[in-house]
Amino acid sequence: MILLDGKITSQKITEKIKLDVQQMTAKGFRPPHLGAILVGENPASKVYVRNKIRLCDAVGFNSTVIRLPKDTSEKDLIDQVNQWNDDDSLDGYIVQLPLPDHIAADKVNLAISPKKDVDGFHPHNVGRMCLGLPSYLPATPQGILTLLEEYDISIKGKRVAVLGRSNIVGRPISILLSQNRKIGNGTVTVLHSRTENLVDELKSADLIIAAIGSPNFVKAEMLKPGAIIIDVGINRVEDASRKRGYRLCGDVDYENVKENADYITPVPGGIGPMTVVSLLINTLKAAKKEVYG
Ligand code: NDP
Repeated sequence: MILLDGKITSQKITEKIKLDVQQMTAKGFRPPHLGAILVGENPASKVYVRNKIRLCDAVGFNSTVIRLPKDTSEKDLIDQVNQWNDDDSLDGYIVQLPLPDHIAADKVNLAISPKKDVDGFHPHNVGRMCLGLPSYLPATPQGILTLLEEYDISIKGKRVAVLGRSNIVGRPISILLSQNRKIGNGTVTVLHSRTENLVDELKSADLIIAAIGSPNFVKAEMLKPGAIIIDVGINRVEDASRKRGYRLCGDVDYENVKENADYITPVPGGIGPMTVVSLLINTLKAAKKEVYG
């Protein structure tokens, strides 16, 4: 079994981006600039934004965070978005999700300029992705592709089972892996909560992408021997032996599965760090105007 190490791979990419930024600034260009809007006090969101900004600092990007109170109106948030759409000093930005219930996340998403949509959630970027045109890919699918490429894993002609069909993970990665691209040309099946004979589908897959949010769901007996396993899930399970009272685990029962798989991502240390670094990849693309010219 080979461990697909997202921590080491993301560090390598971070170093490459850092060099890229040094070269840009040496030529007289300003560093890439990422913005983040955080509405409210969601503790997980605060941690995510803090981590993204720390990583920006580590590679030499500029960053700006706008923290808005939880009772911010939808209109005020969209005004801020419009202001950033017109701000040439900012290459790309994210609006951290989830938003408070009184704000329609879809409306805010639509207001973001596709050119600055480094999360890749705007329908314009999603449409371009589906058509195989240059676009910002959503961070987790981008992270999965980058990790497979780093380990030189070809999925050409292989059977792929994507477990989960969310708009941020399952749906986009299923589209990408079925396309005629470097890491692609797979024969992809999307599995979800209404799928019949789910285990049979998993058993016939050469590559499984698990993204359902169900701790340790995938077991060894559900796999084809020698399968490649990408575990996207991040779940908290109670663990009295830990100081914080819980530990993180994926959607795949790692200990049970690892000897049956040829390649597997750990949780934590697999797709998580690859997702975070993907935002830097997109911001660098935005700064270099690689997607929209
Ligand atoms: P969502 O909750 O949006 O979607 C879950 C999907 O899984 C749905 O399509 C659902 O089916 C399907 N599903 C749920 N239970 C089952 C089941 N028992 N059998 C088959 N299908 C099932 O999840 P996300 O995609 O946002 O996230 C999935 C997991 O990945 C979570 O643990 C999340 O924390 C993690 N995550 C990790 C990231 C990272 O950086 N590593 C980034 C993003 C997410 P249906 O559509 O029928 O309801």
